[in-house]
Amino acid sequence: MAAEAMPPGHDSGHACGGCGQPAFVRSRAYTQPMPDAAALAAFAEQVSACTRCRLAEGRTQVVFGVGNPHAELMFVGEAPGFHEDKQGYPFVGQAGKLLEKLLAGIGLQRSEVYIANVLKCRPPGNRDPQPDEIEACESHLFRQIELIEPTVVATLGNFATKLLSAKPTGITRVHGVEQETTLGGNHVTLYPLYHPAAALYTPAMLKVLEEDFARLPAILGRPVAQPQPEPQLEAATFAVEPAVQLGLF
Ligand code: URA
Repeated sequence: MAAEAMPPGHDSGHACGGCGQPAFVRSRAYTQPMPDAAALAAFAEQVSACTRCRLAEGRTQVVFGVGNPHAELMFVGEAPGFHEDKQGYPFVGQAGKLLEKLLAGIGLQRSEVYIANVLKCRPPGNRDPQPDEIEACESHLFRQIELIEPTVVATLGNFATKLLSAKPTGITRVHGVEQETTLGGNHVTLYPLYHPAAALYTPAMLKVLEEDFARLPAILGRPVAQPQPEPQLEAATFAVEPAVQLGLF
């Protein structure tokens, strides 16, 4: 294939009929204008000075997120831990190693997806995020999703799942079940997964996580379903209501 026919970020040295990526990783370069990676970098710069909540006081640095700014697949974890806070990148500890292994199992590298967290700063002693911290931080995540425009957002664990599904249902009930939703103004498939840190020490959970992960290629390869338009319902209500009311008089 001629070099100029390649999507940005690829060269003619790839060996898969045009692209080194697995076939299910669709490149938007063929179909849509690329979102602005510079806008994401500028936003990261802005968030690096955030003081919206108490976590700003104890952090080494803001852990914004990392990966392909045009990723089709985005992972959202809970919050940076000790190593993430020191290094400035999400999922660089043991849980991150497991995430990388799971990615490798479906033919992907970390650099091909985008990885972020609900909270951008480390809670002291790795305690759970508090509701006011999530509230203060959530618009950072929604803006990230808006700029990256992933088609699939895989939530890792309860905090990300509850925030992005906007439902209180816990991960034990919803893992491995896709939900169609709108995030950052874009239609996405939300795919809840167990948190790798939880799966590290619980073999049964690890097995489920591996099984759920194995379905990701199929989910990524599928055309994005459009949300059902609501007006139909309203139209039906309108059609019935006047008749009922007319009958009253
Ligand atoms: N756990 C998370 O949820 N996020 C990280 O970045 C690391 C561990």
